[in-house]
Amino acid sequence: MLPKCAVPSCEADAAYEVILYDFYPGLGARALFWEQDSTCPYICWTHAEQNEAQAKGAREPRGLVHYPYTNRNGARGFSIYAAIPGVLGDIRESRVVTDIIGALLGVHAASPFEVGWQRVRRAAGHHVAFGEAWSRFLASDPYETRVSVSPDGTGSIWIDRQYPCMPPVLALELGEMLYQLRSALDACIYQAAIMDSGLNPPPNERNLEFPIRNSEADFLRDAPRMIGTVANQRQAIVESMQPYNQTKAPPDERFINESLEMLSSWAKKDRHRALHVVGSWSSNAQPKLRTPPGTGVTRLVTAGNTFLEEDSEIAEFFIEGWTPGMHLQANPDVWIDAAVKDLPPRDDSDLLGHRCSRMIRSVATIIRKFEQSL
Ligand SMILES: [Zn+2]
Repeated sequence: MLPKCAVPSCEADAAYEVILYDFYPGLGARALFWEQDSTCPYICWTHAEQNEAQAKGAREPRGLVHYPYTNRNGARGFSIYAAIPGVLGDIRESRVVTDIIGALLGVHAASPFEVGWQRVRRAAGHHVAFGEAWSRFLASDPYETRVSVSPDGTGSIWIDRQYPCMPPVLALELGEMLYQLRSALDACIYQAAIMDSGLNPPPNERNLEFPIRNSEADFLRDAPRMIGTVANQRQAIVESMQPYNQTKAPPDERFINESLEMLSSWAKKDRHRALHVVGSWSSNAQPKLRTPPGTGVTRLVTAGNTFLEEDSEIAEFFIEGWTPGMHLQANPDVWIDAAVKDLPPRDDSDLLGHRCSRMIRSVATIIRKFEQSL
């Protein structure tokens, strides 16, 4: 079956797979960001044409482009299109990808793991809603730039918060996404236990769970209780996805082990403690100063990547020839992205939106592996 265009209410077959492309110079092996657009994985000829014609913004690495149909979370980078092999030739090549994303879109064939797929679709919906809430937040002018200069010419550029607290909907959408993904994995184990035992409800029903453990010892301790009633080949899938097995996984699947570790710890905190604290992560500051004639900036030190709090100092500077009463304009020129306070991004390709996309793809891939193991 060919994938359908993901534009709502469009019934056409897709002509292209949509890729979110970006490039982060200086990050070596992590510089290239090339992932299927989880907010619009496939698009038809007509909508691709419209998407390009109505796009606003610069198509350049780390740029921000607003499209009518693709990149609905407003991620950095821009959309590119890859011809679907099924349209131009061999469909079997793209079969696995097609099935995973087809499931996200509701076009897959009936699956014994339907409950898991439903939860993945709900998770993807929360991911998109999070991105939209974040865009609304940024559009509300939540920050103001302030510059202060002492009489001796030393000064600072600040970003001041203009709102009392982050919109609670952000933490709620994130929490609901985590909950659905975690539950999707548990639903797979439950369904597998029914099929493998021939009993419904399955034996040991209350202890069934998709274990996610950071050490082999912990996994071997808990696996018999949690997945002991599941067939060996499916237990092997669960074990290969454990965080501690990351180095044994094929390189293009290692993101799954890493994503599961994050999903497990985040979902646990969300359930036991409180919602995650979502903050504004400022990075890549390249502050600019417009100084009065006859003066010059001789020192400009940026504060580094940080969460924006009530007033955040972005840079310190010294202006040669400054006298009180002069006028100065400053632009902090920072990126502002959503991030979870417990675990700030390691680098620019590790932003929250990317992490969430990878978690969703991880769970979808695991369900697919369960289907293929039958
Ligand atoms: Zn379409």
